[in-house]
Amino acid sequence: MSAQPGEAARAADAPHPLLSAPLVDQPGVGPKAAGDLASLGLTRVWHLLTHLPMRYERHEAEAPVAELEPDRIVSARGTITATRLAGRGRKARYEAVLMDGDGRLDLVWFNMPFMRDKVRVGDRVRVHGKTKQRGPGLQIANAKIERLEGDEAPPKDERVRPVYPAGERITTARIEKIAQSVLPGAIEVVEDHLPDDFLRERKMPALAEAYRLVHFPEDEDDAPRGRRRLAYDELLLFQLGVQLKRAHLRTALRAPALKHSEEIDRHIRSRFGFELTPSQNKVLEELVADLTREIPTNRLVQGDVGSGKTVVALYAMLMAVAGGHQAALMAPTEILAEQHAAGIGRMLEGSKVRVGLLTGAKSTSERTALLEDLREGRIDILIGTHALLTDRVRFKSLGVAIIDEQHRFGVHQRAMLRAKEDDEGSTPHMVVMTATPIPRSLALTLFGDLDVSTIDRKPPGRTEIKTRLVTPEQRGTVYQYARERLDRGERAFVVAPAIEQGSTETAAVEPLAKELAEGPWRDIEIGVLHGQLHPRDREATMEKFRTGAIQALVATTVIEVGVDVPEATMMLIESAERFGLAQLHQLRGRVGRGDKPSLCVLIGAPATDDAIARLQAVASTGNGFKLAEKDFEIRGPGEVFGSRQSGAAPFRVADLVKDLELLTMARRDAADWIRRSPALDAPGEALLRRRVAKAHGEALGLADVG
Ligand code: ADP
Ligand code: MG
Repeated sequence: MSAQPGEAARAADAPHPLLSAPLVDQPGVGPKAAGDLASLGLTRVWHLLTHLPMRYERHEAEAPVAELEPDRIVSARGTITATRLAGRGRKARYEAVLMDGDGRLDLVWFNMPFMRDKVRVGDRVRVHGKTKQRGPGLQIANAKIERLEGDEAPPKDERVRPVYPAGERITTARIEKIAQSVLPGAIEVVEDHLPDDFLRERKMPALAEAYRLVHFPEDEDDAPRGRRRLAYDELLLFQLGVQLKRAHLRTALRAPALKHSEEIDRHIRSRFGFELTPSQNKVLEELVADLTREIPTNRLVQGDVGSGKTVVALYAMLMAVAGGHQAALMAPTEILAEQHAAGIGRMLEGSKVRVGLLTGAKSTSERTALLEDLREGRIDILIGTHALLTDRVRFKSLGVAIIDEQHRFGVHQRAMLRAKEDDEGSTPHMVVMTATPIPRSLALTLFGDLDVSTIDRKPPGRTEIKTRLVTPEQRGTVYQYARERLDRGERAFVVAPAIEQGSTETAAVEPLAKELAEGPWRDIEIGVLHGQLHPRDREATMEKFRTGAIQALVATTVIEVGVDVPEATMMLIESAERFGLAQLHQLRGRVGRGDKPSLCVLIGAPATDDAIARLQAVASTGNGFKLAEKDFEIRGPGEVFGSRQSGAAPFRVADLVKDLELLTMARRDAADWIRRSPALDAPGEALLRRRVAKAHGEALGLADVG
């Protein structure tokens, strides 16, 4: 017997050689075409297979030119018998005459001088466009035109034609032609990873059939049917990955079960200078239930800006410390990490709890000493930036790990922080916090493996923040008004997108601070804060602002997340059109944290519809959930994924706005599946498992699933 067990499985795992073959070796693909395809990133057969049409055009049956009627969208074919360039300047146009037997059709293209090289006398072409009566004959303006070469396909009846994402070097018509010669064979060998009866129950075509339907639809229902399967597939694979990870966490990994008692509770609460709100208490109850078990906690604490998430995190960390373990808190910016260290340090003043701060800004010797203390258990709570993720950071016994402002990190970082080994070889309880409430469909995908708690009420005594939208011409009045409030002892943030004045119109911190100090805010103590300052200076400036030694802080978006100075009542944002919606909401959240009425002024000259919509949305509501939905509508999920969730799943086919029903179905199916087969290793699941791992293994940290 030559075959080892597992060898058969490995053979089944390998993708079919035809799918991984280079396109250049395929029939109908010469070196020129291969180069042009490569300009779109398509070099292998499966690249082309998964290069899906973005939409479809319905082409009417071709008709003889003599039978065409005016004001119809038509297709026709014939020979170009004459061309000329006419008119000048804005009236320049290229004209051609198409003849088919006795029928004559005039063609004209405006402002497309390059048509001259594409359409020449003698060419056999097919044209598509709308006919207009011009004198005695018909004319099509700006017709789509395609040269018919050699083996001319006979005119088809009515048909649906795919429109592929194309590029400068290759048109959709050429991609279509290559697809017609390469893909039918490739589709033959596509293997399905889902069983027939599973698909039948859901009225889904097999994978090969789905590809055939999207590339070569025969009627209008075909492509949507194929697309539905492919979209579902993406969502299912992702959800299976998420559930697999979750099942693994629950069964294979152990976290320390933390002790909890009335005494511990009283002790921890005595550190906060206020009573927790009912909303915070409800979330804590859920969290405590998690932390006292051995199953590793994996919880998202969601709450709008200023809802008071930090104390909830601190409570969890102190539970770890009370149980003789350590805790870690990771924040997305140095400023925020520094602020957490300062704030938590203040709350714990006089206690035995030792807090350490680790950011990229620490000197080597400071860092070495800190890491040594950490490993030896001389530090109880470590606060830092993603510097926490480096290999050299080792805990003695990490009980609770918190990620603040999780939306700033990727799924990947969460996996890395969890994977932090400690000397006891257990895994920490994970709590992630986010102030950016995300639409339900995104939550289901991004955080599908998390339990969710929501702090839905803000602490009492907060006043509503007034938001005003003003033009740059009104700046003078704004700063004058703000000055009056500064004179009464209030504090203000001024935010600009850049540090130094570039060539653009965009406001910048340095010149702005100077302008204010010399003009409307003369004699006011003004501080400057941005990422390029030394951390020591930054910390000093923040501290002065907190104590009131500085009354106004001119800053970049380094203060966007987390910064908490209750006495600040004004947030003035320059060049507001340059900021994203979530960002503006976060910035606004820096004020309205005390009991004085607060104000947010967006100074901007929005030029695009998007920018106008964004600013108006921010001005119209202070509710983060409503804004998140609007943001999603304006920018779409691609952006939300792309810019923020590095390492999260970018879906190619599925559309999280339109496919909510498919998403819900995929999630339920995946949960059922993993309940039946928690490790996804039953007979017949090898291909599915491999595809899940390939698509999402890295992002979800599935490597440790084995
Ligand atoms: P976020 O949810 O944006 O992280 P923070 O945790 O920074 O909010 O809390 C915002 C402010 O509210 C802080 O100054 C904090 O001390 C205060 N705070 C939190 N909880 C309460 C409470 N229950 N009562 C009064 N103030 C609170
Ligand atoms: Mg916070």
